[in-house]
Amino acid sequence: MTISKNEAKMILVSDLNTSLDLIKEINYHRSSNIITYSKNIFLPITHICQNNCGYCTFKQDINDVQYLVMDKNKVFNMIKQAKDFNCTEALFAFGESADKNEQVLNKLEEFGFESMVDYVYFLSENILQNYEMLPHTNMGIIERDELRKLSEVNASMGLMLETTNKKLLKTIAHKDSPGKNPEKRIKFIKNAGQENIPFTTGLLIGIGETVDDHIESLFTLRDLHDKYGHIQEIIIQNFKPKPNIPMNDYPEPSVIELLKLTILASRMFPDVSIQIPPNLNRNLMSLFVLCGADDVGGISPLTKDYVNPDNKWPTVNELEKNLKTINYSLKERLPVYEKYINEKYLKEKVYEKAIKLQKEIN
Ligand code: SF4
Repeated sequence: MTISKNEAKMILVSDLNTSLDLIKEINYHRSSNIITYSKNIFLPITHICQNNCGYCTFKQDINDVQYLVMDKNKVFNMIKQAKDFNCTEALFAFGESADKNEQVLNKLEEFGFESMVDYVYFLSENILQNYEMLPHTNMGIIERDELRKLSEVNASMGLMLETTNKKLLKTIAHKDSPGKNPEKRIKFIKNAGQENIPFTTGLLIGIGETVDDHIESLFTLRDLHDKYGHIQEIIIQNFKPKPNIPMNDYPEPSVIELLKLTILASRMFPDVSIQIPPNLNRNLMSLFVLCGADDVGGISPLTKDYVNPDNKWPTVNELEKNLKTINYSLKERLPVYEKYINEKYLKEKVYEKAIKLQKEIN
């Protein structure tokens, strides 16, 4: 469905009656009452990061870290545990450009690798060869040739756009975060599209951006998806204040604002899943689903959300029970969505494993 920026704005500033009409329309046209999730293990490979975002709890100071880079024995032990829970996604998370730090680079060299990308390639390849799981890597901005290399052994990759508003590079949110320059992130998402990488991205809501920024950000993603067709899901992620972060006294975005954004995203992206993190919106998931969300992302039965450590994931049973109240049900998916399981989007090493796992979860 094509929609103009004016129509998008009307949705975001609509009154209650108009919003209710839009919700009715979404649910009238909806073709499925299934909400998807991926059963994952969250592996924070390093907490070192070149950026300093005002809302971050993931980054750790180099002098305080428990480990500089998670070693392979720990990774594979965790993967073995994940298999006991039938997880199918190994989610690798990182601070950005960690290997620009000399101590991190020395640690990688001690492990036998020249860069973080080389190490992630090794881990991903090993997981593909030895375990019934698929790697998904979120490592911040890397070069196009590095993306290409990782796509040989990853089922999907991700990077939040967060916002197209460059002014935030001068505010508490991003003033010390060169990697959050929207131009760099748009280029990265474009590179992933040119490499045919099934891709996860999204908006971070409540860090100082405006309604017009939300529209601009969604239209930018629409444009990228129209050109490359690789965006499989868009996350609408709400900022949560936490103690010990520079933005600890920032207000959370309102629920109404988030619901209207979900309506807009679902109208603009009928061909892309709209994901709402269930641990950040625990009692509201059914409402978001009625507004067009159709995915709850990765849920780990054994690791926490290291990006929002205070917000525990709901269990699958809890989510199922909530969704049942609105006549929806939950279904497991892989980190790569079924429509991207083909030879255009998945390289040989990943494709066969994805086909096998898809059959098992169907
Ligand atoms: S890029 Fe990510 S890990 Fe780094 S400071 Fe920002 S939010 Fe934290």
